[in-house]
Amino acid sequence: MSETRIYNFAAGPSMLPLSVLEKAASEMTNYHGSGMSVMEMSHRSKVYDTIIKDTEAALRRVMGIPENYKVLFLQGGATTQFAAIPMNLLKTGKADYAVTGNFANSAYKEATKFGDIHVAYSSKETSFDHVPSQQDLDIRPDADYFYICANNTIYGTEFQYDPQTPAGVPLVADMSSNILTKPIDVSKYGVIYAGAQKNMGPAGLTVVIVREDLLGNYPAEKYPMILDWKLMAEKNSMYNTPPTYAIYILGLVLEWVEQMGGLKVMQELAEKRSSMLYNYLDSQDFYVPVAQKSSRSHMNITFRTASEELDAKFAKESMAAGMSNLKGHRSVGGIRASIYNAMPVEGVEKLVAFMKKFADENK
Ligand SMILES: *Cc1c(COP(=O)(O)O)cnc(C)c1O
Repeated sequence: MSETRIYNFAAGPSMLPLSVLEKAASEMTNYHGSGMSVMEMSHRSKVYDTIIKDTEAALRRVMGIPENYKVLFLQGGATTQFAAIPMNLLKTGKADYAVTGNFANSAYKEATKFGDIHVAYSSKETSFDHVPSQQDLDIRPDADYFYICANNTIYGTEFQYDPQTPAGVPLVADMSSNILTKPIDVSKYGVIYAGAQKNMGPAGLTVVIVREDLLGNYPAEKYPMILDWKLMAEKNSMYNTPPTYAIYILGLVLEWVEQMGGLKVMQELAEKRSSMLYNYLDSQDFYVPVAQKSSRSHMNITFRTASEELDAKFAKESMAAGMSNLKGHRSVGGIRASIYNAMPVEGVEKLVAFMKKFADENK
């Protein structure tokens, strides 16, 4: 099975650990003697109840989520939360956003439909090549929350610190592309949310981790029930059918993370993989790295060659060499290597070797 697999550098959906896929395959048609696949199970059955509870417990253990936070397993992708966040969190109607890329900008634009939304920082002028430092942030002290995109998947930038907010202003973070990749002090955040398809499992599941005291401001009489976090929390994510199979796979991924040694080890591996690429990029002048040094992502490494033609040639030839999806996002072009938790170090070694060879051949 493993010989036929390639190194998939896709930004998402992306690689899952082979052992997770193999375990899921072995349990595919008959989960733990139930006589059925997890896909076929009632979400209200006893056997499924154990799966979802164990998955939540594992996520709490791995991330160190405090008791006073709810964990929600939702559908609709991170994009649905762009709207759900202002709908659930606005009280006075004011919120502040750091606009550091396409996803942050979409979240900001969605929020403007619901209130008085202020741009606390934008890196648009330099094509989103960096994230702000703490001093750069202009956060209103009476904002209902301050929003960041913790890792900007398209541009390859990442916050290397937890931004501080004025007293009483909760920090909200889109961690779709860097959740489970390093230890996080959850208590510094009001809300952490992520689409699953980068580091947690298959598409279709969105995890929202929310501090309890932030629930209860949703105008349920005029907004749709399905986006009400409080309702979802009260119903243990079972108001309607949750993404059952994706939650099960998240459980297997968390088991793998724990076997590997937890988030500290994920972080060490992420630093190892990303520094192999950045060290090489900094040692040559054929490829040009895109993100500013102090903002570089550990997950999405962006660079370009001297021309679009060479970028395209790179994507094509790397594919033939067994490495897929190295083409940059359609909105920015260039080359992007997404190296999430499940990317083996050997995949990055192979990529660096290919980059050297390609540079020699095309100088
Ligand atoms: C992928 C991604 C999204 C979009 O997620 P969907 O699940 O497709 O809605 C949002 N934010 C970030 C940071 C992402 O990487």
